[in-house]
Amino acid sequence: MLTKAPKGTKDILPSEVYKWQYIESIIADVCRSFGYKEIRIPVFEHTELFQRGVGDTTDIVQKEMYTFLDKGGRSITLRPEGTAGVVRSYIEHGMSSLPQPIKLYYNITAYRHENVQKGRYREFHQFGVEAFGAKGPSIDVEVISILDLLFKKLGIKGVELNINSIGCPVCRREYNIKLKEFVKPVIEHLCENCKTRYERNPLRILDCKEDKCKSYLKDAPALIDNLCDECTEHFEGLKAGLDNLGIEYKVEKNIVRGLDYYTKTVFEFVSKNVGTQGTICGGGRYDGLIETCGGTPTPGIGFALGMERLLLEMESQGIAIPNDEDIEIYVATIGEKADRYASKLVYRLRSEGISAEKDLMGRSLKAQMKHADKLGVKYVVVLGDDEIDSNRTVLKNMKTGQQKDVSLDSILDRLRRKE
Ligand code: ATP
Ligand code: MG
Repeated sequence: MLTKAPKGTKDILPSEVYKWQYIESIIADVCRSFGYKEIRIPVFEHTELFQRGVGDTTDIVQKEMYTFLDKGGRSITLRPEGTAGVVRSYIEHGMSSLPQPIKLYYNITAYRHENVQKGRYREFHQFGVEAFGAKGPSIDVEVISILDLLFKKLGIKGVELNINSIGCPVCRREYNIKLKEFVKPVIEHLCENCKTRYERNPLRILDCKEDKCKSYLKDAPALIDNLCDECTEHFEGLKAGLDNLGIEYKVEKNIVRGLDYYTKTVFEFVSKNVGTQGTICGGGRYDGLIETCGGTPTPGIGFALGMERLLLEMESQGIAIPNDEDIEIYVATIGEKADRYASKLVYRLRSEGISAEKDLMGRSLKAQMKHADKLGVKYVVVLGDDEIDSNRTVLKNMKTGQQKDVSLDSILDRLRRKE
């Protein structure tokens, strides 16, 4: 127990953290170029925020949340996603009085009590974007194009964009009646969950993963064919905007997303590669959410991308992630005087931003050279009394085998100039 991490959690080990840092740095670059600012939100919130903001009828709220009473008797929940917390922050900090739209992104851990499998964990990481205050489709296009550019920058190919519209409360009310009429004669054949959904949120029947339910619903009326004029116009605007940027998409009538607060645009980026968990990213418009959470009515749109699934996708596409962690120079030493000199030299190099190592284990020269080799350093110098007295040493390039007789004082400059 003590030496095993809880089920569904994973350490990101030093040997793989470079992959995360690389992706996070590309995310930061892309978001900066789009004018999205980072926000950092708490790991836990009041449970009620998720009940309202994610929605009582969702799997997340019904089955997956880590909820507990804190010492003050308050019900607290570990964030199962980021949108609700960001919305709470938007309201709490009066962001509606700032120039709109407010464009935010986050990199967070999220917590869901799930059946653990490949690409599905209990603690996982999401990169997400939320944009508040703009109601037209051009911001939907902008938000989707962030992902398009991110995938391009990461070298990911073949991830498909599926879009749909789930309308607004006006068209959904009418549609729900039609859908219920369709479902009524077959309701006893559907799963227990769908029977509850039928009463509480019929649209979510279309989101059921059970094959039997799927087969009964394959000819069900689609919301996209029953949109009101405003929602139709919005969806046409979205498609035209994507066409304008050359972003390919497919209209997928069955995407409804698991969350209650979505309106109009919904989308997913799906891959064939990540086993059964093919959805890398899901998002959509949530014009009702801010009001639901206690703010003034404000339109919003966002997405959340699963970082673990993104990494799995990159691995399955064989995309090499650059690892710049190699140590630049190892200063090997013989004797105490050289050791003291080396301490000063590596400190100097480090303060100039050059990564440098020296012996910390009392190793022999031979063992130091072996260790330097294992570290994969680019350069090695050897220092003993003679080298210090003569101010000269040999700088060895470990990649090319080339050796150069250099003065000790010149090492910093040479490494800076990458000679
Ligand atoms: P799924 O249908 O796979 O359960 P979801 O609809 O619950 O996904 P969202 O709430 O939309 O997922 O979360 C956005 C993204 O976060 C998903 O597309 C996925 O990449 C990732 N994600 C969701 N749950 C997990 C999890 N348990 N482990 C790892 N990644 C996850
Ligand atoms: Mg889920």
